[in-house]
Amino acid sequence: MADVHEAAQVAGRAPDSVKIIGVTKYVDVEVTRSLLNSGCMDLGESRPQSLWEKCEAIQQVGLDSPPVRWHLIGHLQRNKVRRTLPLVHLIHSVDSKRLIDQIELDAVALNGRVAILIEVNVTPDQNKTGVSIRDAEELVEYALQMKRIRVEGLMGMASLEGDADQASRDFATLRQLRDNIEVRLQIKLPELSMGMSGDFREAIAEGATLVRIGSALFQGISK
Ligand SMILES: *Cc1c(COP(=O)(O)O)cnc(C)c1O
Repeated sequence: MADVHEAAQVAGRAPDSVKIIGVTKYVDVEVTRSLLNSGCMDLGESRPQSLWEKCEAIQQVGLDSPPVRWHLIGHLQRNKVRRTLPLVHLIHSVDSKRLIDQIELDAVALNGRVAILIEVNVTPDQNKTGVSIRDAEELVEYALQMKRIRVEGLMGMASLEGDADQASRDFATLRQLRDNIEVRLQIKLPELSMGMSGDFREAIAEGATLVRIGSALFQGISK
């Protein structure tokens, strides 16, 4: 965590302008709990089912005060939306109209509200998850029409094959896209979820507000 604060300072940003999401997908409930005890209250899971299970396990042992904020960072299947919504603080991985429709429908049924990010594929690899750069603005606009959904920003991942310079360019692309959409639609999209263990420094330098860190937090902890 000190590394994230340092990276923020290097980038000339306030340390508290970057929030760490502890990605717990590699570790069990025990280790997840130790992360909470160390003060990391934002937790991320990439599979909805794992989020449900960990969320329940943590609640059972009464460690949910102060409340844990769960982030879904991976693909959300439409038939898993209803069970996920009541548990989740922010869904990072919304990338289709069909998913937006389902979230709105279930949020109405549950009489709740939900905060989302639009996931954008900023890499040249067309097979990666996320809406294309070209279609991103239209998808944001679509989500803005929903009564139960609040769009807080964009999420993206750097190219897997690339080096640090490539990661910087990918993150800069996401930030510029966000800036453009803000101007064109006259809205605020304050959150940029970008950066993982291997590239959070580049992401913070390019304006990340949420970094999703897994393996770097758990080095030396065996499952
Ligand atoms: C696993 C995962 C992370 C964390 O990856 P690390 O390299 O272990 O830090 C971040 N974001 C997403 C979407 C993930 O699936």
